[in-house]
Amino acid sequence: MGASTLYELSRRGVRALGIEQFAQGHDRGSSHGDSRIIREMYFEHPLYVPLVQRAYDLWHELEAESGKSLMAIDGGLMIGPPDGMVVAGTLRSAREHSIAHEVLSPDEVHRRYPAFEPQADLSAVVDPRAGYLDPEACTRAHIDLARQRGADVRYEEPVVLWCQACETGYACLGQAPPLCPECRSAEPNWTTRKPYKPSVNDAKFLRSIKICGEP
Ligand SMILES: Cc1cc2nc3c(=O)[nH]c(=O)nc-3n(C[C@H](O)[C@H](O)[C@H](O)COP(=O)(O)OP(=O)(O)OC[C@H]3O[C@@H](n4cnc5c(N)ncnc54)[C@H](O)[C@@H]3O)c2cc1C
Repeated sequence: MGASTLYELSRRGVRALGIEQFAQGHDRGSSHGDSRIIREMYFEHPLYVPLVQRAYDLWHELEAESGKSLMAIDGGLMIGPPDGMVVAGTLRSAREHSIAHEVLSPDEVHRRYPAFEPQADLSAVVDPRAGYLDPEACTRAHIDLARQRGADVRYEEPVVLWCQACETGYACLGQAPPLCPECRSAEPNWTTRKPYKPSVNDAKFLRSIKICGEP
């Protein structure tokens, strides 16, 4: 999300700064690895379908601009009980958005895709535009193109530091100050994780974020 936001901002001519707490290509978030599935007939809810359709366009644009192959579309097979969330949800999204699809019986699935032998009481839907993306290559392409347009990207810089003594959060670039500017604690115990205090609500935390470090 951060890399794509940086890319979109730089496309719009905005001078943007991207900040990441870990090194480039780290494996401590959600976007590392070799593949992430993309499905047009989103079974979770038909409301997502236009968002996914827009995402297909944007991934194609990114492939064209970067000259990299990022997305492989080879179709997806949704298998489950006919009235279960996956099959019923996929069909609902397909029908509400008039998306071409096929419903297969377990025998048809096995004939066409011999690796699968679904139980007799299951059903399957083919999503012809389903496929997968290379998430690390996508992030790299977003960052490289944003940088080419002048975006500044900094790694190993945590954005938000929390003072554990007074629970104040600071959007911080560069070194954390030795004293907490709020409570003046000389041992603020800076942490990147929001201190968990059930009595303090998120609104207070959000209001309390302050800026420190270099501008
Ligand atoms: C195993 C797995 C399989 C998945 N499979 C699919 C799939 O098939 N299809 C699909 O669509 N989705 C899938 N997802 C979900 C998808 O990968 C995530 O929704 C997506 O990668 C989230 O991207 P993100 O940018 O929001 O989060 P992240 O990639 O985690 O990026 C957030 C970044 O913010 C940085 N950060 C956090 N706090 C700070 C701070 N204070 N200062 C500086 N930096 C900070 C983190 O270090 C991290 O790099 C899967 C997720 C996982 C984990």
